[in-house]
Amino acid sequence: MLITTYGIVIRERSIGENDKFIDVLTKDLGVIELSAKGVKKITSKSFSSAQLFAYSKFCLNKKNDRYYINSAEPVHMFYNLRLDVESFALASYFCEIILHTITSEQSANSVTRLFLNTLYFLEEGKHPKRLLKSIFELRLVSEIGMMPDILACHSCLCYQTPVMYFKIDKGMIFCENCYNRAGDAVEINSSVLHAIRYICLTDFEKLWSFKLSDNAQKNLSQITEKYILSHTERHFKTLDFYKELENTFNG
Ligand SMILES: [Zn+2]
Repeated sequence: MLITTYGIVIRERSIGENDKFIDVLTKDLGVIELSAKGVKKITSKSFSSAQLFAYSKFCLNKKNDRYYINSAEPVHMFYNLRLDVESFALASYFCEIILHTITSEQSANSVTRLFLNTLYFLEEGKHPKRLLKSIFELRLVSEIGMMPDILACHSCLCYQTPVMYFKIDKGMIFCENCYNRAGDAVEINSSVLHAIRYICLTDFEKLWSFKLSDNAQKNLSQITEKYILSHTERHFKTLDFYKELENTFNG
């Protein structure tokens, strides 16, 4: 049986001289492992499509619960991500998150779209990386059913006070009148709160079209990062690497 789907390579492992296993985030089948025979030969028709970050149309064979590449047509290669070490590190972190949050054999259309758009903006280099990171982290968890409850104060249901408190492990916000009950919550100002609500709830087309001051971006980045680490209960090695670079480049 032949299956056609679109997907992005998020991990590659060499097998011997000519072959590879690649993990691919696909729209229709979630994250699947593909056996890619002969793709390391430069003459292979699927050579480009089997590279990290390549986005391609794949035609697959399924035999004994394993997928094999029948043919592949590259759509966009994201070559430029390799030219900037910080972008490369951030894209690798996104790949690691996807590997540990998206399962196989279920549609991952919205996550694929989120990841593709994020890579386009990262490659283009016009959006602040820190903001792309926050949008990806928070929207991804929202898309997979772990959206924080950010509509109103968890206690009194008021929409907003000048300062609010975000209890990251519970995914709840509290107003300034109720914050004693929140315990170890993080203080957030109104622009950070607005950004959090916007990233979780806005239409996909408008997701990247908002501005935020540098300070608010820093604050937001700490919050979205803690949120995804806490709710996936994971440690990402690629995140440590990205943060080392970020400190080196941005002080
Ligand atoms: Zn309240």
